[in-house]
Amino acid sequence: MIRIAIPNKGRLADSTLELLEQAGYRGLPQGSRALHADLGNELQAVFVRAQDIPEFIDDGVADLGVTGRDLVVESGRTLCELLDLGFGRCRLVLAARGGGDAEWILNEGARVATSFPRTAARWFAERGGAPTIVPVSGAAEIAPHLGVADMIVDLVSTGSTLRLNGLSEVETILESTAVLVSRVDVCAGAVRREAIDEVVGALESVIRAQDKRYLMANVRRDTLEQVKQILPGISGPTIVEVMDGGAHVAAHAVVDQRDVPRVVNALKRIGAEGILVTRIERLLP
Ligand code: AMP
Repeated sequence: MIRIAIPNKGRLADSTLELLEQAGYRGLPQGSRALHADLGNELQAVFVRAQDIPEFIDDGVADLGVTGRDLVVESGRTLCELLDLGFGRCRLVLAARGGGDAEWILNEGARVATSFPRTAARWFAERGGAPTIVPVSGAAEIAPHLGVADMIVDLVSTGSTLRLNGLSEVETILESTAVLVSRVDVCAGAVRREAIDEVVGALESVIRAQDKRYLMANVRRDTLEQVKQILPGISGPTIVEVMDGGAHVAAHAVVDQRDVPRVVNALKRIGAEGILVTRIERLLP
C-alpha cells in the first residue's frame, strides 16, 4: 500500500482529486470531509494542509504528496519532484508601491511582508540585501497600506489583486505549479519504486493526454500523401479501410489540441468528410 498526502482544502484540493480519479483511482463522495481514504489500486490518501505536505513526505508519514512547488521551496526540505501536474500555476513575486527600484529594495531597513519568509529572506540574501521580514499568514498586499511594510512577496496568478492595491511587480522570485513529490531516497529507487512508478505512470498518462485530441476523418485514397503531411500523428496516421469499394479510407491520428482548427481546415480543403475529434483519456508513449 502506497500512501499519498493530498491537500484537504484550498486551490489544489479539487484538481488533485479530479486528476487521481481520471488516472483510475476511486473518487470520493462530494463534500466528503474524510481524513483518509482508500483510493483503490493499493493507494491510500491522507488529507492534510498543503503547507504541511513537504514535512510529512520528508518525515516518511506519506510516500507521495501533491502540493505547490512554492510550498516545497518554503519548507526548506529537499524533496524529489516526480511530476509537474500542470495546475495551480502561479508566481511568487516581489511587489512594491510604484514598482521600486533595485537599489532601494536592497536598502537596509526595508520591510517585506510575506507568508513566504524563508524564500523571501533567501532571495534577498542572494542579492546582498537583508530586509526586515514581516511574517503574515495571508493578505500581504494590505501591509504597505497599513504602514507595516514597504514591499511584499506574495503569490499572483493574474496580478489583478496587486494592481487593485496599487502595487507593481518588481521581480518574479519563483514560478509554481502543483507537483507530485517524494522523499529523495524513494525517488532514487531505494524503497518501493515499482509501486511509486505505477502511480506516477498513471498520472503522467492523463497529463500527457490533456492537450491532445484524437482525430478521425474519411479521406479519398488518392489524397493519402497529403493526409500524411497534414496529420503527422505520433508515428504517422493510422489508415483504416472504409467498406465503400476502396475509394475512401479513414485516417486516425493524435494531434495537439491547439493544432485542431488548422488540421481540420486543411483536411476539409482536400475533401475529407466525417471529421471527428475526441478527447483522449490517457496517452502512453
Ligand atoms: P490554498 O492557499 O490552500 O488555496 O493553496 C495555496 C496554493 O495554491 C499555493 O501555495 C500555490 O501552490 C497554489 N496557487 C495557485 N494559484 C494561486 C494564486 N493565485 N494565489 C495563491 N495560491 C495559488
